[in-house]
Parts: sequence; C-alpha cells; structure tokens
Amino acid sequence: METVVISTVGKEDAGTVMGAELIRNGELVAFPTETVYGLGANGLDGEAVNRIFAAKGRPNDNPLILHIAKKSDVKDLWAHVPKIANTLMDTFWPGPLTLIFNKADCVPYEVTAGLETVAIRMPQDKTARTLIQKAGVPIAAPSANRSGRPSPTTARHVLDDMDGRIPLILDGGPCRYGVESTVLSLVGEPTILRPGAVTREMLEAVIGPVQLAPSILKPLGEREVAASPGMKYRHYAPDAEVYVIEGDPKPVAKRIRTLYYDLEAEGKRTAILGTEQTMPSYRNLNAYSLGDREEPETLCANLFVLLRDTGAENDVILAEGIPTENTGLAFMNRLLRAAGFRRETV
Ligand code: AMP
Ligand code: MG
Repeated sequence: METVVISTVGKEDAGTVMGAELIRNGELVAFPTETVYGLGANGLDGEAVNRIFAAKGRPNDNPLILHIAKKSDVKDLWAHVPKIANTLMDTFWPGPLTLIFNKADCVPYEVTAGLETVAIRMPQDKTARTLIQKAGVPIAAPSANRSGRPSPTTARHVLDDMDGRIPLILDGGPCRYGVESTVLSLVGEPTILRPGAVTREMLEAVIGPVQLAPSILKPLGEREVAASPGMKYRHYAPDAEVYVIEGDPKPVAKRIRTLYYDLEAEGKRTAILGTEQTMPSYRNLNAYSLGDREEPETLCANLFVLLRDTGAENDVILAEGIPTENTGLAFMNRLLRAAGFRRETV
C-alpha cells in the first residue's frame, strides 16, 4: 500500500475530504492533534478499529480513545453523562483531556478492549476536528506509532513507523504539547490514569480532589489490577537504552558527565538530554537541550522528538529528570517508561 502525505499547514481543510471518505470506508488515517499524531478509524465499526491494532502491532487488550467534534456527541457514546463531566468539558474541551465513563451499547468492544467503559476526547486541533466532522462518526485513535515506540509528534515520525501500512497521513506540522492527553477516569473517584498537559492541579481547581493512579511513576505491580491496561506495556522506548538521572541540576550534570565518559570509554555511542540550566556543563559532548527546567511544558514538547532522533544514532541516552509538579508529572511519566524505570537519584 502506498502512503500519501498531505500538508494541512495554513489550510486545515486540505486532505480532510479524502480522509473522511477513507474513514467512512473503514480505512485508517493518521492525523495531527495538539497532543501527538493519532491513527484513526471509524469508532463505530469494530472491523475498521481492528485495522488500527494490526497496523500498530498493538496488543488487543489496550483500549483506544474516541475523538469527537462537538461536546454533545458524548451523550450518544456514554450510558449517561455525569454532572462532573459537564463541568470538565466546559472548562477543558476542546483540549488535551480524555474522560472515561461507562459506555453506551453502540460503542464496539474493539474500541474499549472488552471494557464496559469508554474514553472520549474532543481535540482542539483544527485539522482533527474538521476530519471528525466530515467523517460524521467518532474517530477511534491511539497514538500513530508502532506499538512500544515513542509517540509521533511530526508527520515524518508517523511515516517512519507507518509507511506502507496506511493510505493517508495528514501533516499539520509539529504538535503543540507533544505528550498524549491527560486520561481522567470518572468511574468512581476521579482518578488520573495518565498525566498530561491538563494537570492534576488544574483539575483540582475545578472539581476538588483528584486521585493519581499508583502506576504513574512506577511499573505496574504484579497483583495490581490495571485500571488503564495500556500502562502495563513497554512504552515510548527509542532504539537506544535510556537512563534517567534525577536531583539538583549541578550534581545531576556532574554525574551525567562521569557516566558519559565511562560509556564512551566502553565504545558506546552516547547522547545527553540536558536542560538549559545544565547545557554549559556538557560543552563539547553530544548533548541536546530539552528546554528550561522552569518550563516543563517545553520539556514535554521536545521529549519524544529528541528520544526518536538521538535514539536512532546512539546506544545510550542519559536524560535529566525533573520534579513532578504540574506538567513535570507528564514528562516524568513518559521519560521513566522510555527508560524502563532505569533511574538514579544524586
Ligand atoms: P494511546 O493514546 O496510544 O496511549 O492509547 C489510548 C490510551 O487510553 C491507552 O493508554 C489506554 O490505556 C487509555 N484508555 C482508553 N480507554 C480506556 C478505558 N476505557 N479505561 C482505561 N484506559 C483507557
Ligand atoms: Mg500510544
């Protein structure tokens, strides 16, 4: 199959007529959102949804998110709409917040991986919304990477993973946030299953206390039931081995320099993912800045692109960890999973 890439930059409607037709015909379309690129199919067609799992190599017990173009569409997809959801939708939609609640009968089990709950999001990105609107159906979409790899934040990344596997990629340029949506379960106590750009702090300001799933910063315990099945899989891993070094910037930079020279001596090609604060310590080393430690949103936006690019050319990546407040939590959640939880605090 030939994969066509159509740019939608400056012309959000481009390619969406073709994309909508493909979706209605049960085919797959990769499209930009403000979080990461999604791999979409008709969310009401179980057979079309199964193609997503095949193209990604995704385990079939890992559910997908339904993307909608207008808030009122939730009422057809949820068994009923809880009051708290209305408050959240009014505050954060369109945007990077996915809400989980009991599903309506029309939602196929292929989307929910057999669960009775369904995850729904209304994206902000204009191309995404035009595509969904024109398709006239909710679009089921996970991230558009091969399973286990870092999520794609550019059309180039999607092509690297999906060339020949899907007919169309809509190219809207780099994604604004660069990490996937916050996933908030509204079944029982409001609980964040996956942190994102809509932070716990932002949610609590609107609805009061919000729980964090225990597995956000650590591997899922053997006996722990996976509230979010996706959490149990290897995730976001680039080709290189990733190590996370945490602590104050100065000792972190010192430790990373030592590790770097040791690894180079072993003949391992090594890259450093540093921050603006520590970059001067890495002069003449193979180092890249994730951004300013005081702006975790920037670190999030740069994480996957740097993991992909440096991962392709190196054996080892030494990455700096940051505190887990605000969007720092989303950053550390992705980085620790990319590292398979290899971490050291100095
Ligand atoms: P992705 O954006 O590629 O990570 O895929 C969608 C994510 O949403 C996965 O991590 C899923 O585990 C999560 N998700 C989707 N539906 C549900 C659900 N009903 N319950 C819990 N998590 C869900
Ligand atoms: Mg994913």
